[in-house]
Amino acid sequence: MDSNSFTADTFFILDFDRCIGNTDKFHTVLEEVIERETTVSQQQLAEAKKSAETRGETFDTIRYVKNALAETGGSMSWQPIERQFIAQAQKLNMLQPYARQLFHILESENVPFGILTYGNEAWQLAKLEAANILHIPHLVTGIEGKGKILTGWKKPEGFIVPPALNKEFVALHTNEIVFLDDKAVSFNGIPEGVRGVRVEPGDGGELLPIQRGELPPGVTNVKGIYGAIELLFPQYVDTIIDKT
Ligand SMILES: [Mg+2]
Repeated sequence: MDSNSFTADTFFILDFDRCIGNTDKFHTVLEEVIERETTVSQQQLAEAKKSAETRGETFDTIRYVKNALAETGGSMSWQPIERQFIAQAQKLNMLQPYARQLFHILESENVPFGILTYGNEAWQLAKLEAANILHIPHLVTGIEGKGKILTGWKKPEGFIVPPALNKEFVALHTNEIVFLDDKAVSFNGIPEGVRGVRVEPGDGGELLPIQRGELPPGVTNVKGIYGAIELLFPQYVDTIIDKT
């Protein structure tokens, strides 16, 4: 390896929405801000998101709000809404139960990890900031098929994880990737060497249409981040307490 790269036996790739981040809660906070600050109603926004999700689509929040603001002819722009959304959410815990505990375990085990999230870049970054985890290395992608992304990192020997996902901002060589995500489609085409862990709702809630689908062989289903810890770090199960 050259001096500009690091190596690790295992690297963790964490999905953000509905995996470590509480996506519904982000929306609730945004709806409150929108209702308070604009002529767009909370109900209007909630219904638009619900109907996109029923169609199996990822809801483009910023685009929807910008269009709705333009249609109502108000002078309010997205930027001040975003600042208020971040400020309001930062006072709350916007992570899924046990997500913070997973970060602590990975840190104490010296396992490097980063967040790989699909969606509108500005909105994804706003949510990471709102969750107070902007310091965790992250990559926002417009490619929904994460299997394709992970295949692009595959080399004859292991994987090269891009610099954005590393605290040192250098490429990292790893033998194995552990990949957590809530959507079945995210695991399509994952290459050999990636251990897939599909995080279902931890509260026994039903899978959304966007989360459903067939999992490739070798991907393990777990209930919530607690289930992922039970599977991957069983030695910590007795000591973790959810502080969310
Ligand atoms: Mg997700």
